[in-house]
Amino acid sequence: MKLAASILAGQGAAADDEAQQDSVHENISRQQYMKVISFLEQVQLDPLPDHYRLAWEYLNGGNNMLRDAVNGKLDANGRLSAEMVAEILDECEGHIKVKDLNALVAESEALLTGGFKMLSKSGKESEAYADALQSRLDWMRDLDPSEQSDMPIEAQFQALMKITSQMMKSTRKASQSLDQSTKQLTAMRTRLDEANTKAQRDQLTGLPNRWAFEQQFSAAIIRAKERFEPLSVAFIDIDHFKSVNDTHGHEAGDRVLQLVAKHLDRFGRGNCHLARHGGEEFVIVLENTSTAEAKEQIDVVREDLAERSLVNRDNGSSIGKVTFSAGIAAFNPSEPNRQVLRNADAALYEAKNSGRNQVRIFGAAG
Ligand code: GH3
Ligand code: MG
Ligand code: MG
Repeated sequence: MKLAASILAGQGAAADDEAQQDSVHENISRQQYMKVISFLEQVQLDPLPDHYRLAWEYLNGGNNMLRDAVNGKLDANGRLSAEMVAEILDECEGHIKVKDLNALVAESEALLTGGFKMLSKSGKESEAYADALQSRLDWMRDLDPSEQSDMPIEAQFQALMKITSQMMKSTRKASQSLDQSTKQLTAMRTRLDEANTKAQRDQLTGLPNRWAFEQQFSAAIIRAKERFEPLSVAFIDIDHFKSVNDTHGHEAGDRVLQLVAKHLDRFGRGNCHLARHGGEEFVIVLENTSTAEAKEQIDVVREDLAERSLVNRDNGSSIGKVTFSAGIAAFNPSEPNRQVLRNADAALYEAKNSGRNQVRIFGAAG
């Protein structure tokens, strides 16, 4: 049987046992963790962060692209190399669930902590054993020779001492290798934290992305309800952005997006949360802010941007003025949480239909 097929076939049997295992974590059982470890062994990969990620996704994820890529490499080479892993992760990045990886690291840490406790206990025990032997030996030496038997007791103790010291040595060695694993895990934890942060950022503008926005939004809604404070949401969409791309190219379009993001930067501080919602659309959650105050603040930025004449730095050609439209709505605690998003979107639609380069408040007379 080919290696990939045999690994995957092995999963079925492991899954049967899984029901009997205690779930040690919300998302990952010890059984799953052991599967990852044995996978790494089978394909001859070191237990490094990226290798864990790949193994985890291969065995548990619904990422067909990654599974096909791994199977292809395994069938062709019979093993995986670090380069192959890097290549596969590069291709399939973005489909891997950071949450699950966190669970994997938590499980590894739990196992290691367990290992440490056991080691320090056995280390202490062997030390106590050695001490006891030594004092017994000292007592023997102090005895009157006439009271000592012919048995080479001292020699026996020496032998036992030797065993004890070997025991301590191997304990120390095991402890060093645990130390190493801990270092690797710390590195892995750092990488995962970085991946977590990266997963919440939009690469082009550096702003929080839509996923991060959802979290900010939920948290802000909870605070608004608790504090009985007003909360406004604004959607901002660049006007006729497609024509910037069409006329000046995608790269110039990217730079315009970055420029608009920079103009909106002030809404990413204090009680405001700014995110790139997708494409050429941004979203702002303004805590403890009425829609009128939000409009006032966004109009300042809109007018500031609309005054500028942009130039394509690639060839000096004029891009002209870039404007945006915005729709604002107030959160109403008696409505479903997401209604405010629909309302802000409806207000944006009105702003577009009324000629663009303007800010509309949902429900306000235009
Ligand atoms: P409107 O005023 O009605 O919003 O018109 P529009 O042209 O801005 O809107 P439309 O939805 O027709 O086009 C949006 C364009 O934004 C199309 C898409 O190619 C472009 N776009 C989305 N994301 C990016 C990006 O990351 N970079 C660049 N350069 N363009 C992007
Ligand atoms: Mg749009
Ligand atoms: Mg647009």
